[in-house]
Amino acid sequence: MIPCSINTCHNLEWKKQLAQAVTSPAELLSILNLKSDELGLGKATELFGMKVPHAFIARMEKNNPKDPLFLQVWPEDKEFELADGFSKDPLQEQSANPIPGLLHKYGSRVLTISAASCAVNCRYCFRRHFPYDEQKYGDSNWQDWLDYVTKHPEINEIILSGGDPLLLSDEKLSRLFNRISSLPQIKRVRIHSRLPLVIPNRITQDFLELCTSVGFRVILVWHINHANEIDQHVKEAAEKCHAANIMQLNQSVLLKGVNDTCQQLQSLSEKLFDCMIQPYYLHTLDPVQGAAHFELPESVIRDIYSELLASLPGFLVPKLVKEEANRRSKTPLLLS
Ligand SMILES: *Cc1c(COP(=O)(O)O)cnc(C)c1O
Ligand code: SF4
Repeated sequence: MIPCSINTCHNLEWKKQLAQAVTSPAELLSILNLKSDELGLGKATELFGMKVPHAFIARMEKNNPKDPLFLQVWPEDKEFELADGFSKDPLQEQSANPIPGLLHKYGSRVLTISAASCAVNCRYCFRRHFPYDEQKYGDSNWQDWLDYVTKHPEINEIILSGGDPLLLSDEKLSRLFNRISSLPQIKRVRIHSRLPLVIPNRITQDFLELCTSVGFRVILVWHINHANEIDQHVKEAAEKCHAANIMQLNQSVLLKGVNDTCQQLQSLSEKLFDCMIQPYYLHTLDPVQGAAHFELPESVIRDIYSELLASLPGFLVPKLVKEEANRRSKTPLLLS
C-alpha cells in the first residue's frame, strides 16, 4: 500500500472553494460589474450549467465584457443557434467506448472518464453533451478498466480524464493509484485536469506525496488558454508539482476572441515556461453544438500558427492538432 496521510483541513479548503463556485450568471455579472443589457441573461445555462470558482473569477478584469477568461465561461445567447457541421457528439466517442467510462481510441493508451463533472464549465467543451449519467463511476468501474488493460498488453499509459479526475479526493486517488501500481505494464499515468488552474490549492501535500510514491511516472496536463489565467498561485502550484517530479504539459484550445492572436499565444507559452510547464497541444475547436461562436476560419488558424512558429523557439510551440473521429491519433494541421 502507498502511505497516505490525509490532511483533511487542506482538502476541505479546495472542496469548499468548489462548493462556493458561482453558478448564477447574474452573480457573475455583478461581481465583474458587467451589464446584462449588453451580454444577455446567460440563459444558455439551460443547455449547459455555468460553473466558475471565485479563484478563477479573481483573474478576470472587471468592466470588460471581452475578458478572455470571462468569455470561456459565459453562457452566451448564441449557444442556442444551430450551426452547420456542429453536433452533440462531434468525435463519435460513443463508438470507442468498449466499457463504461473507458475510451480506447489510440493503441498504447486508454482514456478513462474518472469523474462526472468539472470544477469549471468551459462553454466550448466537446463533452458538454456527454451522457455522464449513463456512465458509472467509482471503485466498481476501476476493476473493469484494469481488467480491460490487462487483456491489452499494448497499453502502457492510463489517462485520467473527465469530467475532472482531480475532483476525486486524495484518498480515492491513492486507492486508484494503488490498483494501477499492481499492473507492471503501466509506465505512465496522465492526469488531464483544469482543477489546479482554477483552484491552485488542489495541489495538496498529500497529492504530491502520492505522486512521488508510486512506481509509474505521473504527468499532469494543464489546460490553460490565455496567459492571464496564470497568477502567482498557479505558478506556485506548478512549482510544487515540478519539485515532486511530475511532468507538466499544457493543452489549449484555439478560440475566437479568447486567444486568437500570435502575441497572446506567445505570451502564454512564455508564461508556461516560467512555470515549468511544457506547451503540448493547441487544439482547434471541436464542432460541438453551442460553441460555433468560438470558431475561426482555417486560413486564419494557419496564419496565426505560422506567425507563432516564427516567434518562439520550437520547444515552446504547441502542436496544432485537430481531433477527428476514427483516427489513430490526433491529426496534425500541417502548413503548406
Ligand atoms: C487525446 C486523446 C488521447 C491522448 O492522445 P495523445 O496524443 O497521447 O495526447 C487518448 N485517448 C483519447 C480518446 C483522446 O481523445
Ligand atoms: S472537460 Fe475540460 S474543457 Fe470540458 S468543461 Fe471540463 S474542464 Fe472544461
